[in-house]
Amino acid sequence: MTLPVSQMISVEEARDRILQLIDRMPSYLTPVDEALGQVLANQVIAPFDIPPLDNTAMDGYAVRASDTQGADTHHPVRLKVIADLAAGYIAEQEVGNNEAIRIMTGAAIPKGADAIVPFEETDEQSQKLPEKGKLQTHVNILKAAEKDANIRFRGEDIREKQTVLEAGRMIRASEIGVLASIGLTKIEIFRKPVIAILSTGDEIVTPGEKRNPGQIYDANTQMLAALVKQFGGIPLVLGIAKDTVDDLTLKLRSGFNADMIVTSAGVSRGDFDVVKDVLANEGTIDFWTVRMKPGKPLAFGTFHTSTGKTIPHLGLPGNPVSSMVAFELFGRPALYKMQGRSDWERPVIQAITQDKIVNTDGRRFFARCIVSEDANGTLIASLTGPQGSGILTSMSAANGLTIIPEETPQVEPGEHINVMMLDWEQKLF
Ligand code: AMP
Ligand code: MG
Repeated sequence: MTLPVSQMISVEEARDRILQLIDRMPSYLTPVDEALGQVLANQVIAPFDIPPLDNTAMDGYAVRASDTQGADTHHPVRLKVIADLAAGYIAEQEVGNNEAIRIMTGAAIPKGADAIVPFEETDEQSQKLPEKGKLQTHVNILKAAEKDANIRFRGEDIREKQTVLEAGRMIRASEIGVLASIGLTKIEIFRKPVIAILSTGDEIVTPGEKRNPGQIYDANTQMLAALVKQFGGIPLVLGIAKDTVDDLTLKLRSGFNADMIVTSAGVSRGDFDVVKDVLANEGTIDFWTVRMKPGKPLAFGTFHTSTGKTIPHLGLPGNPVSSMVAFELFGRPALYKMQGRSDWERPVIQAITQDKIVNTDGRRFFARCIVSEDANGTLIASLTGPQGSGILTSMSAANGLTIIPEETPQVEPGEHINVMMLDWEQKLF
């Protein structure tokens, strides 16, 4: 399929067309502690203020700030200690003039007090400790306290009825913490999509099985299954289909209970006719030549099952690098959309290329590179060896993909290039 570039579609157009046909998964109620990595379907509203009461940020003494005015190490202010308050309890007494309550971090501010003097600013340490369970009678304040000092105010983190988390937020450990802090035990999240994965090709053999001369091991199935897991889906491995109408049809249909089917290979010229016939039989399909390198041939469409269900189908190129790059650009956004996420845009950084990069065929070049920081803190990008679309180790060594524009035939070492970061690890080993 050597199309003139003018007849190829852009990466953005391919992605838009795919996303148009992708629906969000239904949502369901799940325990908060099982929601890690999934996406909120409804916004979460705070049922009360966090913190629920004004409380102390330090271990110390709850005082009236005005009583401590003028205090310093030479002129300590002596206050009467009337109670000892641990976190989790409310003081019965009110702090009166020239009085203090000894208080532990997190305990509610007693009535009458408007500042906390930390232990370090009192003579607490130099005092002879009273017997266990008993309280010293007085404390010397060694530094004047400002009103409100060391107080954490009710609602300063979250206000009652405020939106705590928006729908579409991915649940990480910190969101689980926030949800737990408002006492929530269950949340509504989008179901994880089940993604069926099918490799095709007479030459492809499952790792662990006998490989005859001329055959190669299936790199794509396990790699794509890992990507599906990494991006929040559940892989359903369908195996390897021979390049025959019967086998391909049979294996594809075994994936008809999935939410999306991802196939690899068979979309370039060699086996194209078989695949095209099968896909046309089972649904509707477009074959695209995308203006990108690697990953030019791409198929996208929908299968229609006998039960009336429609399943999107992403047909990736067979070469493992092409397959992975195309999955990154089209499969990952589709998976995110199914999960209710819209944050599929990767961070793009500017780096100085160490290599000459040639890109004369008018496509966007996603070369595999490793971005690191030099001694001056400048980001530099080095290509990870030969860039053939069958050279999977070039991907394994990379933490980013260059974005060399379609109309840039060449960049020289030292020039700035854009790099789409796949991960931010600066050193892999
Ligand atoms: P095709 O699109 O079927 O022409 O495949 C393009 C290239 O990718 C061929 O060299 C295939 O052998 C190779 N290929 C296809 N599928 C896989 C796979 N699952 N694992 C490794 N290489 C593959
Ligand atoms: Mg093939």
